[in-house]
Amino acid sequence: MCGGVHFRKGYYEIDVNIDIYPTAYNDVKVRTRGYDDVHIDVDVDVNTSIDNEIVEKGDISFRLISEENKEFSRYDKSVDTYKYICEDCGFIMSFIKEKNVESISEEKKRKQKENTYDWTNFGK
Ligand SMILES: [Zn+2]
Repeated sequence: MCGGVHFRKGYYEIDVNIDIYPTAYNDVKVRTRGYDDVHIDVDVDVNTSIDNEIVEKGDISFRLISEENKEFSRYDKSVDTYKYICEDCGFIMSFIKEKNVESISEEKKRKQKENTYDWTNFGK
């Protein structure tokens, strides 16, 4: 564990691209069964075997939750673990419960809010 105090929520995004390159092998056999004056009677067998070459490219990346636009957060949709990245050292931690941690900008906002409280009637 790192000793950081500022964390941002994030999630892993896994991009997997699967490309399939089909290679078709046609095996055509033509057999002449016989003919009369007008018709040529031909059997055509086509056996097609397809070998698929499957190429998977995996990419895993850690994405941050937007602090400004929570509606666009994909975070709440399918959360099994809560992931936080330390803003100081980049250490990524996973928890099964939501942690009460602040990011640098959340802390700044909170302090600004505290400073703008009207204390004039406090204690009266
Ligand atoms: Zn840290």
